[in-house]
Amino acid sequence: MTIGLALLGATGSIGRSALEVVRHHPERFRLVTLAAQGRDPASLARLAREFGVALVAVADPAAARALAPLLPAGVELASGPEGLLAAVEHPGVSRVLAAIVGAAGLPPVAAALAVGKGVALANKESLVVGGRLLTELAAATGAPILPIDSEHSALHQALRGGRPEEVRRLMLTASGGPFLTRDLATFGAIRPEEALRHPTWTMGAKISIDSATMVNKGLELIEASHLFAVPGERIDVVVHPQSIVHSLVEWRDGSWLAQLSVNDMIFPIQYALAWPERWDNEFPRLEPEKLGRLEFLPVDSQRFPAVALVRAALAAGESAPAVFNAANEVAVAAFLAGRIPFPAIVETARRVLERHRPERLGALADALAWDAWGRARAAEILPALAG
Ligand code: NAD
Ligand code: MG
Repeated sequence: MTIGLALLGATGSIGRSALEVVRHHPERFRLVTLAAQGRDPASLARLAREFGVALVAVADPAAARALAPLLPAGVELASGPEGLLAAVEHPGVSRVLAAIVGAAGLPPVAAALAVGKGVALANKESLVVGGRLLTELAAATGAPILPIDSEHSALHQALRGGRPEEVRRLMLTASGGPFLTRDLATFGAIRPEEALRHPTWTMGAKISIDSATMVNKGLELIEASHLFAVPGERIDVVVHPQSIVHSLVEWRDGSWLAQLSVNDMIFPIQYALAWPERWDNEFPRLEPEKLGRLEFLPVDSQRFPAVALVRAALAAGESAPAVFNAANEVAVAAFLAGRIPFPAIVETARRVLERHRPERLGALADALAWDAWGRARAAEILPALAG
């Protein structure tokens, strides 16, 4: 049976890898809808033509006006947040690949799960902001959430090795990013282009900065706790600079199961799209005999205070991760624009959390309201942290 796919974030790093997987298995997919910010209308039009899609959605209405004359006849064009929902709700779509960056990805993920469409999820922020709400929706409709994040794909695979009550702890691997060994005294001088240069993965700007601060590993801790129903206290992080072992599960009897592959996102993307099957492919694969040494080291919490901060937000209550995520998104954008120094990213999020009294989320609207609250507080705090 062919999979009718909605690809949200089609022009990004994950979106491009997903298209590689789709091209590799033309008989398995029909790409029905595409969504992106819309900054590059020509490449969206090219993709619409190549895959014969039925609908293209762009975030920004001005981008829609630029794209309209470029689209092949008969392709529907939608814009704004409603456009994202239209891309998900199209009747030809049976599975959604969510690869938008940030909390903007939450509403379409919720919409897909609400109507029982499975989600291959790269957009971890949606689980950080609305975690329990999304897993409850998925449970109610039976729609699976299949992680694309390499660590969570590894855990999903390793967890097939036993029963939930046999799990002692999950261990996320972290590359450590570009500043694993940089002199801490020079962190204030880090330039955006240095922070964007990840040693083992090529990714979008936001997640690259999150990897440099290790906020990414904090977000992944929250993501894992929702996906696998394991409390934060039983999820640990280990630094593994080679990014070959993608994560590990420790079982009650002291055994460990891990998953390894080449560090290329096509592997977790194919796993998520193929599940519950596994498919052949011709992508270059891991040759263990050529690996040499694999290292595992503890996280230096002085260098990377973000992991403990996010762990505390998870423990504090449901709105706190949404607030943390919002503040981080605002601070990352400010750092990339040259408005604040690198250490001020995590400091912004810390100060916003300090002003927050956590509450339980009743509905998606609450998650979005806390997201807006976190953004507004971060914007107030930023000027005081400007370098
Ligand atoms: P990216 O910046 O390269 O791409 C983001 C995509 O989303 C682009 O196509 C952009 O046009 C689109 N987009 C952004 N905002 C939008 C909006 N409001 N409406 C519609 N489209 C919008 O980012 P990326 O590196 O591909 O990351 C995407 C997501 O996947 C993030 O949540 C990231 O954390 C996660 N992720 C990425 C990687 C990776 O290797 N890149 C690995 C694990 C998880
Ligand atoms: Mg990851």
